[in-house]
Amino acid sequence: MKVPLLDLGRQNHELHEECLAAFERVLKSSAYVLGKEVSDFERAVARYSGSTHAIGISSGTDALLVAMMALDIGPGDEVLVPSFTFFGTAGSIVRLGATPVWVDVLPDTYNIDLEDALDKVTERTRAIVPVHLFGQMAEMECVLKFAQKFNLYVLEDAAQSIGAEYQGSKAGTLGDFGVLSFYPTKNLGGFGDGGMLLTQNPDLADKAVWLRNHGMNPKYYHRYVGGNFRLDALQAALLGVKLPLLEGYHSARTHHAEEYISEFKGHSGIELPRVIPDARSVWNQFTIRVRTGRRDEMRAFLAERGIGSEVYYPVALHRQECFQNEQQGAKTLSVTDQLAKEVLSLPVFPEMTSEERAAVIRAVWDFGYPK
Ligand SMILES: *Cc1c(COP(=O)(O)O)cnc(C)c1O
Repeated sequence: MKVPLLDLGRQNHELHEECLAAFERVLKSSAYVLGKEVSDFERAVARYSGSTHAIGISSGTDALLVAMMALDIGPGDEVLVPSFTFFGTAGSIVRLGATPVWVDVLPDTYNIDLEDALDKVTERTRAIVPVHLFGQMAEMECVLKFAQKFNLYVLEDAAQSIGAEYQGSKAGTLGDFGVLSFYPTKNLGGFGDGGMLLTQNPDLADKAVWLRNHGMNPKYYHRYVGGNFRLDALQAALLGVKLPLLEGYHSARTHHAEEYISEFKGHSGIELPRVIPDARSVWNQFTIRVRTGRRDEMRAFLAERGIGSEVYYPVALHRQECFQNEQQGAKTLSVTDQLAKEVLSLPVFPEMTSEERAAVIRAVWDFGYPK
């Protein structure tokens, strides 16, 4: 049985009629950038996340950039950031001329290791970026205490974690800013690129609204050097069709993840992801660690059986070619380096059938394990 890592068609084709209706509404409105569709969607996401402000942005990457611009992060500033994350998290820091300071992650949640961060904070540190990787929030209580102690801004990268919870708060609502992404493979996947900034601070919200539109207001009067980081009306309208279905998607992902965890318990060749107490993961990825150097072998074995998998991420950021001049903190990232060799993400998309899930489980066991 063939099992893809992800099948966007199964989710989106079912919404054919609703999407056509949304498209027609935008077509007739002749308002194609920002406007009512975007502000309606912003309000809906704010309500869903329990956030005071939500600002539609052209992508998650741009949302990270706008947030750092709003916080005036630039040359001479250091930003604590995990090296084990998607490129966009750190690219935004370097694009603004600031210095990423690489922080290690924890081996079972894959999220930021604050003990390591403690060794790397300096008087130039301005912000910390907890990435809520694979659907689970970092331990925000500790992150916020840490930030308060050293007077740092907190920018949550919740691109993979819309709807995830920690101590009753949703991802993106605890920091100065939270970043969401609607890239098609995210839990709320759009039909192209899109993102959003969440904040509880009215001044930061104002500034982000200016920055996303060339720092301009009124028309042709520019207070800041912003950019074109606007969200399209069509994207917002289509995402508005899917938002009410998001909790259902989360439940299906959670069911798959719980089945995997119970079926793989006792497997001596793999380590399972851990959900921390008082947290809710939304399982953007189900990522195991394959021990004893057999990850690539297992991946090839699964592929032979027709089962999709992926390595997120094979090369940590401090080892990327473009960051060879950005090596602050890079010497002590042993967990990050280990994870890059061991992680493997298995199919966990909501529409996966129980037969497909069983085929994945069978294949992992059939691959074998150390006695
Ligand atoms: C996807 C992602 C981003 C970037 O979002 P885009 O909308 O693709 O630009 C940033 N950080 C993380 C952790 C992501 O997974």
